[in-house]
Amino acid sequence: MAGKYPSERCAICGEPLESPEFASNYPNFVCQACNSRAVNQAGEPPQHDSWGDDGDNPVYVDAHRCWRRYRYGGHIAMRDDDDCPDLFAFYRLHHWG
Ligand SMILES: [Zn+2]
Repeated sequence: MAGKYPSERCAICGEPLESPEFASNYPNFVCQACNSRAVNQAGEPPQHDSWGDDGDNPVYVDAHRCWRRYRYGGHIAMRDDDDCPDLFAFYRLHHWG
């Protein structure tokens, strides 16, 4: 079943998403190819604490600010066009959850 953020394409590169149904659960979903290019604020590969389901945020993909959701040892990224101060502000803005 599709979620509340239907999207057929990545919010960064515009390529068709592999799993549009999964992506539709998240605002401005970023494809894994773009997510894998992300860097942290220092311009380095983002740190990911897979035990704590936590890691660097925000991250940048081709200079676009994104928020990562770290979960179950993996992560997805969402593009932020609104300069949200943190991930929760981003979720509130998009009425996530
Ligand atoms: Zn992409």
